[in-house]
Amino acid sequence: MTDTLTNLILLGPPGAGKGTQARMLVERFGLLQLSTGDLLREAVANGTAAGRTAKGIMEQGGLVPDDVVLQVLKDRLSSGNLGSGVIFDGFPRTLGQAEALDAVLAEMGMKLDRAIALEVDDAAMVDRIAGRYTCAHCGEGYHDTSKQPATVGKCDVCGGTDFKRRADDNAETVRARLETYHAETAPLTEFYARRGLLSSIDAMQPIETVAGRLAEILERESA
Ligand code: ADP
Ligand code: ADP
Ligand code: ZN
Repeated sequence: MTDTLTNLILLGPPGAGKGTQARMLVERFGLLQLSTGDLLREAVANGTAAGRTAKGIMEQGGLVPDDVVLQVLKDRLSSGNLGSGVIFDGFPRTLGQAEALDAVLAEMGMKLDRAIALEVDDAAMVDRIAGRYTCAHCGEGYHDTSKQPATVGKCDVCGGTDFKRRADDNAETVRARLETYHAETAPLTEFYARRGLLSSIDAMQPIETVAGRLAEILERESA
């Protein structure tokens, strides 16, 4: 059994700060970030069968079928070191995925310790998404107004000078993604609350404040 690991889910709509917080948790707690969005974008870039299925759906802001997402997730889980636990970022997004996750973890002798909901206003999400960009070299995330590099045009982490924006980060797709979130993913908070695994954080607060709350929850979990 590997139950000394802390495995957690970050729940929240597009732009809530899941990726930003997950990267900070990796730094601070040595956890492995597992973002199904990143895995699917990689599959699209590599032109794999999963990528070919996912591409058009992601451009429209819909959900990639559960079996496709589960396969890329399982491939990643079985191919590496899990650090001191896993942060599931952007997964599960449906009840079917939540149930499948329990089964996958059980097979690996692991369990889910906590699901943390990042709570935000829909109205703020369009701005978060529209202003989002990342370092093309190391993937560090930035925002046009809320998180600029210390030196404009130069990544704080790696010094890289190339940045990129996601093809699906436009006003039209954001609205579709928010609708998808409310229809398919929001019910998961209730699912985890019933099992006593849910914590919620007001993610309208500054990045560092949210990170502090997350650290408190994790420290309690691993105590
Ligand atoms: P998600 O992974 O949930 O889609 P991101 O972590 O990519 O969200 O964050 C979306 C954008 O909002 C990024 O540009 C990020 O820098 C910015 N951001 C993240 N958290 C906050 C926050 N608490 N306050 C303001 N901006 C934030
Ligand atoms: P966000 O910043 O909106 O949280 P992600 O990078 O997590 O975005 O996801 C981008 C897109 O990838 C989603 O809009 C969806 O099409 C697809 N995707 C990511 N994770 C999943 C998942 N668990 N199930 C289905 N589709 C997913
Ligand atoms: Zn960088």
